[in-house]
Amino acid sequence: MKRVTRDHVIYAMDKANPPVAVVQPGERLLVETEDCFSGQIKEATKSLGVWFDYSRINPATGPIEVVGANPGDVLEVVIEEIVLPRQGVMATYPGWGPLGSDVRESMVKIVPIEGARVLFSSDISLPVRPMIGVIGTAPSGKAVPCGSPGPHGGNLDTKEITCGTRVFLPVFVPEALLALGDVHATMADGEVCGTAVECRAEVLIRVELHFGLHWKTPHLIREEHHYVLASGATLEEAIQLATRETVEMLAYAQGLSWNEAYMLASLACDLQISQVVNPLKTVRVKIPSALLPHTPL
Ligand code: CA
Ligand code: CA
Repeated sequence: MKRVTRDHVIYAMDKANPPVAVVQPGERLLVETEDCFSGQIKEATKSLGVWFDYSRINPATGPIEVVGANPGDVLEVVIEEIVLPRQGVMATYPGWGPLGSDVRESMVKIVPIEGARVLFSSDISLPVRPMIGVIGTAPSGKAVPCGSPGPHGGNLDTKEITCGTRVFLPVFVPEALLALGDVHATMADGEVCGTAVECRAEVLIRVELHFGLHWKTPHLIREEHHYVLASGATLEEAIQLATRETVEMLAYAQGLSWNEAYMLASLACDLQISQVVNPLKTVRVKIPSALLPHTPL
């Protein structure tokens, strides 16, 4: 199996980035990812200060060329396995998150990972729920920093992007140019302090292509649900985008009028917050897959 090592990172999703690996649809690939701080934080004694190189934040491994992908297609990335190291790191920083103005000084915390538990403190442990924060294709226009989400994916920070999930990313440029990174050992909806348990990881993926779907935004399929993800400058804008896409899908799949589809969304589709800490905010709508019997996947 091919392996992409973590020394091949990018800091922006950009059609000009030369591919570092090539995969065929149906092929498996092992991707080594760096943590969101590029491994600069190794101990808890340092707060984020002048020693920290902010230009090396949010690296993504790649880009990976997917043979046969063209604009208008959808790239499916099946997350088969996420292998974590023995520890991760968290940080707070003035300005980060909805309470960023209350953060007086930065704090850095090393978080051990033992078996299936994340050891937040000697008294508090949480279940390991590994997830991928950054996963995306190259946009067709100007480069987008890996710290931002968008229609191409990117820094979606969505906890459902985990083992067993099928991630669907719009393709905007030939060969798609997939990149991923920013794995978390666990994270809650919102990611309010701006970081989760930030880890290096080894991610086993399989890629597939779906031709000519022309989707506008990333989607997920996990267990019995289909998720529509959308990002906007405000939560309200993200909610509008995700809800509009959901209503259009329901109307098409069920042969409903737009008004009836809007009603059905109100009854059956949970609106959930993914993250509120990135340059664009991300929400998702959770649609029972049974309501989308004709989705071409
Ligand atoms: Ca992130
Ligand atoms: Ca992160």
